[in-house]
Amino acid sequence: MTKDQVRVRYAPSPTGYPHIGNIRTALFNWLYARHCGGKFIVRIEDTDQTRRVEGALEAILDSLRWMGLDWDEGPEVGGEYGPYLQSQRLDMYRTYTQQLLENGSAYKCYCTTERLTEMRAEMAARKESMRSYDRHCRDLSDKDRKIQEANLELQGIDPVIRFKSPIEGETTFNDLIRGDITFANSELDDLVLLKSDGYPTYHMANVVDDHFMEITHIMRADEWLSSTPRHVLLYRALGWDLPLFAHLPMILGPDKSKLSKRHGAASLTEYRDRGYLPEAMLNFLALLGWALDGKTDIIDREGLIKHFTIDGISKTAAVFSHEKLDWMNGIYMRRIVEENGIGEFTARALPFLEAGLPLTVRRPLDREYVSRVAPLVYERVKLLSDAPKQAEFFFVDELDYDSHLLLVKGVGKAQAMKALEASKQRLKECTFDAASLEETLRLLADELGFKTGQLFGLLRVAVSGRTAAPPLFQTMEVLGKDRCLKRIDAALKRL
Ligand code: GLU
Repeated sequence: MTKDQVRVRYAPSPTGYPHIGNIRTALFNWLYARHCGGKFIVRIEDTDQTRRVEGALEAILDSLRWMGLDWDEGPEVGGEYGPYLQSQRLDMYRTYTQQLLENGSAYKCYCTTERLTEMRAEMAARKESMRSYDRHCRDLSDKDRKIQEANLELQGIDPVIRFKSPIEGETTFNDLIRGDITFANSELDDLVLLKSDGYPTYHMANVVDDHFMEITHIMRADEWLSSTPRHVLLYRALGWDLPLFAHLPMILGPDKSKLSKRHGAASLTEYRDRGYLPEAMLNFLALLGWALDGKTDIIDREGLIKHFTIDGISKTAAVFSHEKLDWMNGIYMRRIVEENGIGEFTARALPFLEAGLPLTVRRPLDREYVSRVAPLVYERVKLLSDAPKQAEFFFVDELDYDSHLLLVKGVGKAQAMKALEASKQRLKECTFDAASLEETLRLLADELGFKTGQLFGLLRVAVSGRTAAPPLFQTMEVLGKDRCLKRIDAALKRL
């Protein structure tokens, strides 16, 4: 196989919003395709109608788009490639199930749900190892089969079709990460291939699609490892070549149990909505089970594409750390500004400001004003969703703060009032640029016998409502004369 023939796929089921582990699978496949100049395919495994979750498909595609994981093929929808949907390919699965029936690798099973439940209860009572099916219909005589068929016809239901799994021996396959893996066939069931509603099971649809989509490498989470021997048997029964398999290491929470919501891990769209940068998420997820050299942490998209190989995937579980993600987000937050200027930060923060500023602030926001505020708040923004909180005082008409903040250290109420009055007078005359403001206010502090820190601290609270805010003079310049004077008046009233 040459490298440009590499074809990989991401095959999520729309049963929920994709979580970290899920998108890590997508990312590894995408990176491998891009590294090899191969193809990345997205296939939605939606044949289990009962487990479909409203909105899950959109969330899957949104997550991929947000991370920039583009796919290369699929049915065209509105001039773009849509993903493949298994629910639109049912005929294929039926055809190949039929082939398995015809070549003796599958059989119809007429057992009712009641019988199956009873059977399982009996097995449990006998303490036999739990198997989901006792192969009751596997060797029915022709006569019995005819009786069952007639019965079904009367009731108007279809039988399920099961795979005739070998009872003895072993099934071995090679995993690119873990080496040879062997399962005893006695552990495998006569799994259902086609359900009575005519829909295939995951196993059947997955194998048929991977074959016809000419998937070369199946990279999926290791929870699917126990499905693989069943798939191997199906490939053989259908006379098809096996793809290569690579089962990705588990992702654990900091307490070393399987990563879950309990650890605060969210769906990818939640991370997006919390204001993480896709660049940071991409880098972070790539290191969950893959490493370049064990010491390099910051590797951007291009670097990942260049270096990503299956050899670099680890056998051992990866541990998810929120601290590391936050740290990485900080790095990329600075990087987007270093590389593309503050305008990049502004553009990304804008939707968060539009959504998160108090409703009293007029929308749409004035872009020009936002772009003047952005450089002042950007260093305090760790997640884009922090932006409204940090920038709020630039936008609201009235500040809401604890009046006690106006009593800065060593300054009494009367003195504070005097200083605010004096500032007001001076500021009326002053040109509102940071340099002039600084000069004017330093002089004033001297005249009032204030330490500069005292006067500046007082004014900071008056104009921003906070003790910790961006540099005072730039802040005042952006706020402008009118607003500053109004706020000083308001502060005087509070004192
Ligand atoms: N539909 C399965 C999932 O939701 C796909 C597993 C596989 O990649 O084969 O993860």
